[in-house]
Amino acid sequence: MQQRPELSIGDPAERIETPALILDLDVFEANLHAMAEFARMRGMRLRPHAKTHKCAEIAKRQMAVGAVGICCQKVGEAAALVEGGVGDVLVTNEVLAPERLARLVRLTDRANIGICLDSDLGLDRLNAAAQNAQRRIDTYVELEVGANRCGLVEISDAVALAEKIHGTAALRFAGLQAYQGAAQHLRMRAERKAAIDHAAARAAAFVAALNARGISVPVVTGAGTGTFPLEASSGVYNEIQPGSYVFMDRDYGDNQADPESPAFRHSLFVLASVMSRREDFAVIDAGLKAHSVDSGYPAISGRPDLVFDTPSDEHGIIRGPRQALPALEQRLRLVPGHCDPTVNLYDWIIAIRADKVAAIWPVDARGALN
Ligand code: PLP
Ligand code: MN
Repeated sequence: MQQRPELSIGDPAERIETPALILDLDVFEANLHAMAEFARMRGMRLRPHAKTHKCAEIAKRQMAVGAVGICCQKVGEAAALVEGGVGDVLVTNEVLAPERLARLVRLTDRANIGICLDSDLGLDRLNAAAQNAQRRIDTYVELEVGANRCGLVEISDAVALAEKIHGTAALRFAGLQAYQGAAQHLRMRAERKAAIDHAAARAAAFVAALNARGISVPVVTGAGTGTFPLEASSGVYNEIQPGSYVFMDRDYGDNQADPESPAFRHSLFVLASVMSRREDFAVIDAGLKAHSVDSGYPAISGRPDLVFDTPSDEHGIIRGPRQALPALEQRLRLVPGHCDPTVNLYDWIIAIRADKVAAIWPVDARGALN
């Protein structure tokens, strides 16, 4: 882990060494409250995804404004967040390794913990871990709803797995995980609507089949920043798990807006400096190791006349009209193409307000891959 930046609260933002991951605290708070308000108005449980920020401080702020808990993808993330004081975590993922499940079950000492299953092997392993530790754990069945990732394809198989969970003393059948990840960045709202209509129809079929067997489904959860108003209107989902809304990366900014969604704004930036200049381009100190480019290059905040181009490991090229190019040492704020893997490159988030350092938060679960 990198040493905490040598900054004091109240220091001018110019003192931040670059590249750095910075957070506009006013915009972040507006995003935080807007999603909480949406959930409250629509009567939805909000369980934000912490894969985005991996930061206990942010998770606790999400819960302070009404989230029922948070999601994460990895047991290591769950452990780091519980260690940081988060009291309710759902692992929206499949875990098979017995030692990892044992580690997860141990967290129930300090937090309410849930996990997803899509196989009998997963059920047997989780049951063994829970029995060994004499703990009971919230267990969700994951259904494939269009993303072609984890989740059972046949609804009858998902129903059979839910019935087994229901009949297993150490496992509490908590509900259905029905996340449609492939829908989130479909650019047009109508395309996203079609995808979530399909997901919701499959979720509804699962709920109806279980109800017919006398088993209720307490929670139907899913949704991300691109689609949550659609799940909220579906009549099937009662929990949403968006993550990126707190930061809003460039890729999400490129989606056609949904009129039912609050207007989230970019709050997270990579702060970079010009370290070399040529007549027709500038070179900044932030390249492939400073932001993830899997969803395209970062945009340059407030400078639509400039583009980021041809990054190498430690360098990024800034192009634009000659007279508009930034001078040596000038600083730029880059909006990450994809926020989640970009955050995972940093140990610290430096929050700023009114051009001063307002807080420095550790990325607690950085690099938690297991
Ligand atoms: N839920 C699950 C299972 C996810 O994998 C993700 C992101 O990939 C999310 C929710 C949150 O999505 P987003 O960050 O796009 O809001
Ligand atoms: Mn993402």
